Parts: sequence; structure tokens; C-alpha cells
Amino acid sequence: MVKTDYIPTVKSLIDQGAIAVSGNEELIREFSEFIYFKGFHFNVSELNFDCGNLGYLEIDDRYNCSELLSKSPRSSQSIGVLYSLDLSGKISLTVHRNNDQRDNLQLMFVANAGDIEHRETVFEKIYDLLDNSEYFYVCQQCNQLVDSRLIDISDIPVCAAGSCTRTLKQTFDVNQIDRVTSSRFDEIRVAIFEDEIRLFNSTTFWPHPHECHSGYAIKATLPLSASPAEVRELKTKIESEHKYPADCFYCKGEVHEGMGMSRLVNDSIEAITCYACATEHHGVIY
Ligand SMILES: [Zn+2]
Ligand SMILES: [Zn+2]
Repeated sequence: MVKTDYIPTVKSLIDQGAIAVSGNEELIREFSEFIYFKGFHFNVSELNFDCGNLGYLEIDDRYNCSELLSKSPRSSQSIGVLYSLDLSGKISLTVHRNNDQRDNLQLMFVANAGDIEHRETVFEKIYDLLDNSEYFYVCQQCNQLVDSRLIDISDIPVCAAGSCTRTLKQTFDVNQIDRVTSSRFDEIRVAIFEDEIRLFNSTTFWPHPHECHSGYAIKATLPLSASPAEVRELKTKIESEHKYPADCFYCKGEVHEGMGMSRLVNDSIEAITCYACATEHHGVIY
């Protein structure tokens, strides 16, 4: 079992206002921007591959980069808050286990705000803690988010001792957890379409020597029934086989996908050549 398949994504937590954010406005803005580029900026559902194998991602205007965390301001006392993040001189992350009175709040992480460089590390750490947090699990029987102390995780997570009717359910819509596409921004990205799951990447296309354009290329597809684990496996496989960025055969400079000129220069060689070397060694004129 991969535990992350059964816990909320950071995106689903933010979308539902399950993280109460307080503290310094400037730091909140900084953290909003950090989180935004983890997967909020493109609207994957509007990805269009109609023009052959090419597609374009629309900027997702439902989210505002610097206001991502201030849009639904909930205080740490609000119902449905699972975590509170205080971004002051000291940065702290606390989990709210709304299960019993004794052990309701638990400090997960604390660090000094420090300088910008240090904060990048702190933000990354907070993101990872939230994305991998084992304080709550989705019971695979009642399909509700439950305090992990009430969950049996010896196999797939279920309310312990068949107690689905008696466990306290967290105020959280588990249907918004999307572990297939995840909220991460990787080399190979994943999007769910009406008919299939598509794995794609961003690339530069070079259909003619004098004309190039950027877009998205489908690398593989899976049926909608594929599990997050199957998607991850295929994604890892594609990433490991991905030959770009590669070194130019001549100058050893970095060549990105779609910029490889071997096909246009000479069909028989596999060598990847950069634009400049294609001109120098093969007389290609742009
Ligand atoms: Zn249950
Ligand atoms: Zn070169």
C-alpha cells in the first residue's frame, strides 16, 4: 500500500480551506507563490490536444498566485480546519486532531523564518509534511476522512475493528483528493480526460527548419480505471527513459526535446545536434 494514495493532497486541503493560515502578510504571499507553482497555475482540465499531438495549457484563473492562501481565511478555531500554519518570525505547522479533547493540537514543525534562501527549504519541508501527513486517512470502507488513530492500516486503511459507524468523520470532501494527477509539477505531467488518462510533457516542436512552436506532447495514455500506483509506475518509466535534455553531438551543449535536429539533418544518424551545430556542420539555414 502506498500511504499517500489515502491521504489528502495539499491542493485538496487548500481548496477546502482546511489549512488556517496566519502571520506576516509578506510571508503568506511568499508561501502562496511557492505553493502555486506546485500545480495551481495550469488548468489541466482545459488542456486541448485537438491539433494532432500538440496541446496548450490554459492558465488557471480560478487561482490567484499571491492570494492562494488568503482567499478563504479560516481561523484555527473554524470547523473543518485540519492544520494551522503560522507564518510569523517563527514558522509553525500544527495539526488539529478533532477527535478528543486531550490531544487536540499537535505541533508538527517549527523553524525560524530566516532569510529567503532558508525559507525555500522551510516551505519545501512544510509542503512535504502536508503532502505526506499520516494524521488522517480516508477509510476505504465508509470513504470518509478519519483520524489515523482510529484507522487500521495493516492493509488498506479502514476504520479500526469495523467501526465505520462510530468513528468521528472529519469535515472534508474526499472526492476532491486527486492522487492520479497529484498537485506536483514534474517533468512528465498527468491529466484526466473524459475518455482516458494522459501522460504528457512540455516540449518545443520543430516541424520546419525555420519554424518552431512550443506545446505539450502526449507520451502515453492509460484507461480511466488505472490506479494512482499504475500511473506513477508508468510516469517513472517514461521519466527514466526520457533522453532529453541531452548533449549536442558536436558542441556538447544542452539540447531540449524538440530542438534535436538529427531528423532534419540526416535520417540515418541518431546524433542529437543543436541549432548552431546543424548550421555549422550540415549547412542548415533557418
Ligand atoms: Zn470507515
Ligand atoms: Zn551544438
